Amino acid sequence: MTVQPFPNYIAGTWVAGCDSAPNINPSDLNDTIGHYAMASAIDTFQAIEAASNAVESWSRSTSLVRAEALDKIGTEIVARKDELGDMLAREEGKTLREATAEAHRAGSLFKYFAQDAFRETVSGFRSIRDNVELEVRREPIGVVGVITPWNFPLAIPAWKIAPALAYGNTVVFKPAELVPGSAWMLSDIISRAGLPEGVFNLVMGHGRDVGQAIVDHPDVAGVSFTGSTAVGRKIGAALFQRGARMQLEMGGKNPLIVLDDADLDLAVECAVQGAYFSTGQRCTASSRLIVTRGIHDAFIDAMTNRLSDLKVGDARDLQTQMGPVVSAEQLDIDKTYIEIGRSEGAELIHGGMRPENTPNGYYLAPTLFASSSNEMRINREEIFGPIASVQCVGSYDEALHIANDTDYGLSGGIITTDINRQRHFRDHAQVGMVQINLPTAGMDFHAPFTGKKGSSYGPPEKGGYAREFFTAAKVVHEGRG
Ligand code: NAD
Repeated sequence: MTVQPFPNYIAGTWVAGCDSAPNINPSDLNDTIGHYAMASAIDTFQAIEAASNAVESWSRSTSLVRAEALDKIGTEIVARKDELGDMLAREEGKTLREATAEAHRAGSLFKYFAQDAFRETVSGFRSIRDNVELEVRREPIGVVGVITPWNFPLAIPAWKIAPALAYGNTVVFKPAELVPGSAWMLSDIISRAGLPEGVFNLVMGHGRDVGQAIVDHPDVAGVSFTGSTAVGRKIGAALFQRGARMQLEMGGKNPLIVLDDADLDLAVECAVQGAYFSTGQRCTASSRLIVTRGIHDAFIDAMTNRLSDLKVGDARDLQTQMGPVVSAEQLDIDKTYIEIGRSEGAELIHGGMRPENTPNGYYLAPTLFASSSNEMRINREEIFGPIASVQCVGSYDEALHIANDTDYGLSGGIITTDINRQRHFRDHAQVGMVQINLPTAGMDFHAPFTGKKGSSYGPPEKGGYAREFFTAAKVVHEGRG
């Protein structure tokens, strides 16, 4: 019996792609989760046409209609968070606990933007002229392309799709190739929320054809992208060429500073969570641990002890604290960087190889380098795996200088009991998001998400800031003469 691949969703109908691809569990390579459609550029054009045809009526729908649809989606996601979390853990390798929390967060995001649909979209000004009324309206931009990475396959699509729909745009959603299962389940829920045909479309497939077709199409008014800096810059150039809007969230090389006066247990917990949870595959992961000399040796000892206890295994085993790497390709990249770190002279003090007694998947032990310097490639380039490196410094000033000496600027953290240093870091860290006595990863769902330098381009995502990208201002002067 041939099993039909999970289809794409175009113009209110589930349609087969031109091809399909298997979805393999990285925790257990014998487990094929299913086969998922791969769209062609032509399928993508059809999705864009459907979204384009739906813009006029959806943009004029009432906020009540939009809010009720989004609330319905959010409610179903929360109710089914265990099922969604299980799919996420199974196809991406994040632990079940993290995956279920992400599913819950995706539901909360839809519920947040359901309410935000009611927020004021017209603001008044007093004109400087007599008998002139002045107002600024916020209008939807039209068809929005949503292109997402594999590492947060529910939360990131949710925080793009929900505001896009809340403010009256229509959506063409292209998830990452490695995580079609979560995207399909999310789209299935959205497809049953009563949205008119064409308002939401799912096209699964490769970046080079489906993604590029979205980026290049003149009817796509803007693209909200999250992914690597290399791809983000490439598509950014293409979007600029044709005058389309863009919101690009990209890579990170996030510093976590640990000062002599830090609570050692807290510092280790924040470093372990920030660097290794979600297998280090987070744009906000603490890959650079910058530690002052007085606490350095104790920190290294405590880190190696803690990492030895970290249980690596099948993402869906409840004992597991760190799951596998997402794919063979990513595992090769991780191993290459471990060799680069060694050859650059950093000292490998933990991990670097496959842990013992792990199943047939892409496993790598949590890996820690010491004696590293900020010039080394392991401290300059985003690795995106369970690999962090420690740099020993003489002072807070030196730590701050190193923290800011990077092409990226997403998240930055400091562990210290000194309130003056906390505030100084808050004011001088060249990042979009500061974490004080907390891991560099882990943001509230209703707060904005943003970075500086090579990490972000365009308006912030989430929270009240989301309106900036997904709507355009229109200024109206009205004579009352
Ligand atoms: P990626 O850049 O390889 O792919 C991201 C998405 O872009 C995928 O859907 C992919 O298919 C698509 N794509 C690839 N080429 C394309 C093209 N030419 N045109 C259009 N679309 C194209 O990233 P990834 O490997 O999926 O994710 C990991 C990266 O994402 C890391 O760099 C990580 O830091 C970053 N990330 C950033 C944030 C953030 O908010 N800053 C959050 C999560 C992940």
